[in-house]
Amino acid sequence: MMTTTHTALAHVAPASIAAPRSISIFGATGSVGASTLDLVRLDPGAYRVVALTAQTQATELAALAREFSAEVAVIGDPAQHQALAAALAGTKTQVWSGPQGLLDAADLDADWTMAAIVGCAGLAPIMRSLLRGRCVALANKEALVSAGALMIEAAHTSGATLLPVDSEHNAIFQCLAGGRIDEVESITLTASGGPFRQWTLDQMRVAGPEQAVAHPNWSMGAKISVDSATMFNKGLELIEAHHLFPVGLENIRILVHPQSVIHSMVEYRDRSTLAQLGAPDMRIPIASALGWPRRIVTNCAPLDLATIGQLTFEPLDDVRFPGPGICRAAIAAGGGAPAILNAANEIAVSAFLGKRIGFLDIAAIVSQVLARYSPSAPQSLQDVLGIDAEARAEARCIIEAKD
Ligand code: NDP
Ligand code: MG
Repeated sequence: MMTTTHTALAHVAPASIAAPRSISIFGATGSVGASTLDLVRLDPGAYRVVALTAQTQATELAALAREFSAEVAVIGDPAQHQALAAALAGTKTQVWSGPQGLLDAADLDADWTMAAIVGCAGLAPIMRSLLRGRCVALANKEALVSAGALMIEAAHTSGATLLPVDSEHNAIFQCLAGGRIDEVESITLTASGGPFRQWTLDQMRVAGPEQAVAHPNWSMGAKISVDSATMFNKGLELIEAHHLFPVGLENIRILVHPQSVIHSMVEYRDRSTLAQLGAPDMRIPIASALGWPRRIVTNCAPLDLATIGQLTFEPLDDVRFPGPGICRAAIAAGGGAPAILNAANEIAVSAFLGKRIGFLDIAAIVSQVLARYSPSAPQSLQDVLGIDAEARAEARCIIEAKD
């Protein structure tokens, strides 16, 4: 069964969970991967680790594979295969590599799969897991932005379960647990506003990567940190919410909430609004997905509202932060636009991190690539990857012309 919140009521009776639960983590060496493994460390006997993956960090992946006795370790970059094999010599862990290795890992039986590769690079293994009918905890929002309709369709067809891990979507998932999607009036995605919330456009124009990745509330990988600074992150999340919670695009709103305590809200048609609150710690939404449909114990800090004192809210400034508006227009346009948007943003963020373009160039480049062509809606994974490759090439061209 496809499990997003609108069908979550099908699971009122908690399923019994066999112990140990077999789990695979795609993107194990990243920020979300590390938070997931932190939770596994709290109760190691409850899990059997099937596959752990990384892209280039062979030494770090080997250390995790040893610690958790992973059955398979996969390194995306084939050039790192020997390094990983050498670091795992004498263990029972099998070493695989390359894009095919990632797909083969998705084929392995696992009760629960964390999808925490960053970017559209994670799409193919996620699609494989969904087609295999797995329970997929989804952190990788870029996959859903590029191929949302195909992913949802794959989950429906195979009976896969899709559990949202992004904190906002996990909050909405939790707020919908006692209600029905057709009784929802609106959904509000909260946004911290990122490190440049109070910066002027002139200040942002000269902002460098070090300032952009210094998020005030969350500790995350470099790409999503830059997305938070441009607020493209909230736009990508808008598209993510549109696919996961079909309440109509016009009923999904964005509200700046600098404290990041309320992670999102659901307003029902009787005007009751439900919110999910917690410390800004990704282990909390990950624990919700890891334990689902039960609750597991974590060692996360309890929410101390008396110390926090005040929760404040403000509207989004779409002049300084055009990203969410660009994303809303792209998903409204449909077709290949969201995949183009995502690819262009990935290339622009990487160029910004490499100090080849300025901070404000990111949104400008995404807009330029989107304006260049409008392919029809992708019908297959190959279509999405084709659009993705073309948009990346366009974005690179624009960046090279600037150099
Ligand atoms: P990180 O950059 O910290 O980690 C990314 C992981 O993916 C690493 O394991 C990395 O391996 C691997 N990886 C990178 N590129 C590739 C590739 N081309 N092929 C295969 N694997 C690859 O990212 P985060 O953990 O911050 O984010 C992961 C995803 O979760 C993103 O989509 C992000 O938007 C989403 N997310 C993250 C949140 C957070 O708090 N960090 C919150 C909500 C959503 P290696 O280490 O070897 O490079
Ligand atoms: Mg989020």
